[in-house]
Formats: sequence, C-alpha cells, structure tokens
Amino acid sequence: MTPARGDGGGEESVPTAAGVGDMPPEEFHRQGLEVLEWARSYLEGVGALPVSPSVQPGELRALLPARPPQEGEGMDRIFRDFERLVLPGVTHWNHPSFHGYFAITGSGPGILGELISAALNVNAMLWKASPAATELEELVTDWVRDLLGLPPGFTGVIHDTASTSSLVALAAARQRIYPEVREGGLFGLPRGRIYVSEEGHSSIEKAAVALGLGREGVRKIPVDRQFRMRVPDLEAAIREDRARGVRPVAVVATIGTTSTTSVDPVREVADLLRGTGVWLHVDAAYAGPAAALEERCELFGGWEEAESIVVNPHKWLFTQVDCSVLLCRDPGSIRAAFSLVPEYLRTDEAQAATNFMDYGVALGHRFRALKLWFVLRYFGVEGIRRRLRYHIHLAQTLARRIEEDERWELMAPVTFSTVVFRFAPSTMSEQERDTENLRVMEAVNASGRAFISHTRVGGRLALRAAVGNLRTRENHIESLWELLAQMCEQGPAESGVTLPA
Ligand code: PLP
Repeated sequence: MTPARGDGGGEESVPTAAGVGDMPPEEFHRQGLEVLEWARSYLEGVGALPVSPSVQPGELRALLPARPPQEGEGMDRIFRDFERLVLPGVTHWNHPSFHGYFAITGSGPGILGELISAALNVNAMLWKASPAATELEELVTDWVRDLLGLPPGFTGVIHDTASTSSLVALAAARQRIYPEVREGGLFGLPRGRIYVSEEGHSSIEKAAVALGLGREGVRKIPVDRQFRMRVPDLEAAIREDRARGVRPVAVVATIGTTSTTSVDPVREVADLLRGTGVWLHVDAAYAGPAAALEERCELFGGWEEAESIVVNPHKWLFTQVDCSVLLCRDPGSIRAAFSLVPEYLRTDEAQAATNFMDYGVALGHRFRALKLWFVLRYFGVEGIRRRLRYHIHLAQTLARRIEEDERWELMAPVTFSTVVFRFAPSTMSEQERDTENLRVMEAVNASGRAFISHTRVGGRLALRAAVGNLRTRENHIESLWELLAQMCEQGPAESGVTLPA
C-alpha cells in the first residue's frame, strides 16, 4: 500500500490509536461523581444565590479565552473555569424565587433521565436506529395524553420547543389546504391565513413566516375583557377572507396565553370550524398540565376536537428544557407534509413502525422521552396533581395580597399559577404607573432576591410573577410581596434603579 502523501510530497506518518480515545473510564467515574455532587449541592443551595447576575452584555465573553486550546485540558481546570467564570453569569431558573416568564423546574428525575440519554446518545430518527427510544416516546406521549384527559385518537411526538411543535402542526394544516405545495411551493397560489388571538404567542407568526404565508398571513383576532379570542370576530374574519379568495388554513386557540394566561373559548371555536376543513391547533404550551386537575378541566372543554395540541413538559411538568409534546389526531397529515426518505434511510419496518424523521423538519431525533418517562414515573399522576395544585395555591396567595392592598391591582384573573399585576396608586397617571412598574421590576431583579418579568395588558405595563418551581414555598411568596412593597416605597434614588428618560 502506498503511504499517504501530503501536499508537500513528504511522507506522513500513519496515524496510531495513541491519544485518540475518549476520557478514560476511571477519570469519567471520578469526575462524574464530582459533577453529580456539585449538582446536588448546587440544587440544595441555589436559594442562597442571587437569582440573576449583575453583568453587562459582553462582560463574560471578555473573560473567556477567544480560542480553543490546541491540546486538551484537564477536567479539573475546565470545571474550575465553569465555577469561576460561567456560573456567576447564570440566571438561576432553579431558584425558588425565580418567577419570570413561565417559571420551571428541571427536576431530579429529569436530570437523571437527561444524564442517561446523554450517555446513550442515540439518534432516534428511525425506529431501527433505536427501537426503544421510539417506542418509549410513543408510550410516554400516550401517558401525557391520558394524564390530560384526551381521547386515544391523539398520538404524540416530542419536539424541542412549542415553537417547533406549532410550526410542524401548521405545516400539516398548510399541506391540507394546499396539497400542491410540497412539489410546487406556494408561488402563484392564493393567499392563506392563520387566525390567532391578539394574545397568541409570537411563535405562530414565526411559523407563518417560515411556512411562506408571511406575517400578513396571520390575522389577529380581537379579545374580550378577559383576553379571550372573540369568536364572532373570528367568524367574521374567516367569512371576509373567503369572500376575498383568501384560504383559511388554521385557527390557533390558546389555553394559557403568555401575557395573562387567558383561555380562548375552544369549544366555540371547534363548533365554528367543524366540517370546514380548517385545522384547529391548540397552544397549551404552559397551561396544558392543568388539564390533569378535575377543577380545571372545564377550561379545556372542546380541545379534544382539535387536530393538534401542543403541551410543553419543560414548562409546567417538571421536565428539563427541552421537551415539547405535539399531540395530533391524524399523524398521517404531518407525514404528508414532511416525509422525504432518501435511499440510505429506507428501512423494511417503515410500514410497521414509526420513524420520527417523518414527523418534522429535523432528521435527527433526541431521546427526550427518557427524562419525561422518569419524571412521570417518579412523581406519579397524583404527585403531579399535588404539585400543580400547590403552585396554583401559591399564585392565589400572592393575588390575595395584591387584592388586599388598594395601591396594587390585579390585571388579569389568576387562572393557573401566574399572577399579572401592577402598582397603581391613585396619585399616579397611567404614564407614571408604566414607568414606575418598570422601575420596580428592575429594582426587584437587581436585588438578586427574586426575579419577575413584565408584559403589556391593554396597552399598560404589567408585572408577571409565575410559580413553577418545585422549591417555591409560601415564605418565598411572602418575601416577594415584601420586596415589591419595599421597592415601591424606596423610590428611584434609594432603590438605585433609574430608567433612561
Ligand atoms: N406558546 C405559549 C403560550 C408560550 O407561552 C410560549 C413561551 O412562553 C410558547 C408558545 C413558545 O414556547 P417555546 O419556547 O417552547 O417555543
């Protein structure tokens, strides 16, 4: 055999196995135990850390080497740098006083499930590529469906995020209305429309952009005083569009909107769409798990008639980011939109087994089902219900404090575990209230003692405090309330937070 020659024509040495392997097992064992011990002590002590770091954009990047090392470094050194340089820049979503956005928990069983799926590192694009990963995903999404009281007609796929799940569902909806789109694209075809309430999530508009319907392909339907989609307006919009030759593709109803956690009247929407061929997609990314609670079931009435539903276990079902379950009544419609099988991926089992590569944009498919299976088994159905109820109770505790103080105001009903509110003393104008609430939020977050986020409700600035963390207790809610009151009383000078004019 002729030895390989480089460009320079000189002889190259034949590569050997020296220095090409993975971390030695003994080192993996030692470092692994240390990392696990670190994670244990981090989770135990996270409540004592500042919830969010006080850093400026670019500050952390400047501390880190701009280039990777030429030769490998020891794990001790890497880990030291993680603790010294990276950790101080982390916002601790695990902190019991983290109430921003939709607060979440990557629970103990979820961490262990994630660890094992990282160790297995399978790519479940085909059943054959990892039969157990595929079948566990089918099983665990059936469990989620049953937990939420949905009929067996739905089957599930786990995607990374609700944005992806909704994109996939809306692609299937588009395929149904434009069967020619797979081959010819949308060029020259009449405009299509997706309807979503003014309070719907921005991921729906993004999906429309990605699907070639464009932002103008989304029609935002006005909401009532409780921020729910107005179905008569939806009906009128669809009628008007049809009269102008626009093709209605899908309606997205939201159960638990991002700003106020409002609930669209899904049953009425389903009644309106029945027999029209327009796809009903329900976005229950956050609030979905509450369907497991008898006393919240009514809010979900009619969602069983949807074509597709998204629920994120990584929001309020104690599972690590990322994990988003898309339940679909007719998975064949997703396959019709996405299935495209090159020769090297053809398998004999394609008829008898599920190949997840056929159900979305990505070929590769993470083994997310394992962590979700761990979480559902470890907590159990009743354990999950207890935890959800406790979170709702904590949110209502904060809401009561707000209602009892005339200077404060609830901006939306507390239906799940999120409180939307503002400081609104009668002495302030609306403009002053907006500025003051923004300052209060910044001051609370800068204190490192809690973290909240904001939104706009009816054009006015509102604060949001969500409960979703398994470590949050009544004392954290009481501390948040005291902190809010303190930041209001202090005013800009003492709180140290002033906003640019
Ligand atoms: N839908 C709703 C109602 C949401 O609140 C969110 C995010 O908060 C999303 C969709 C998008 O979620 P993801 O980050 O999983 O894409």
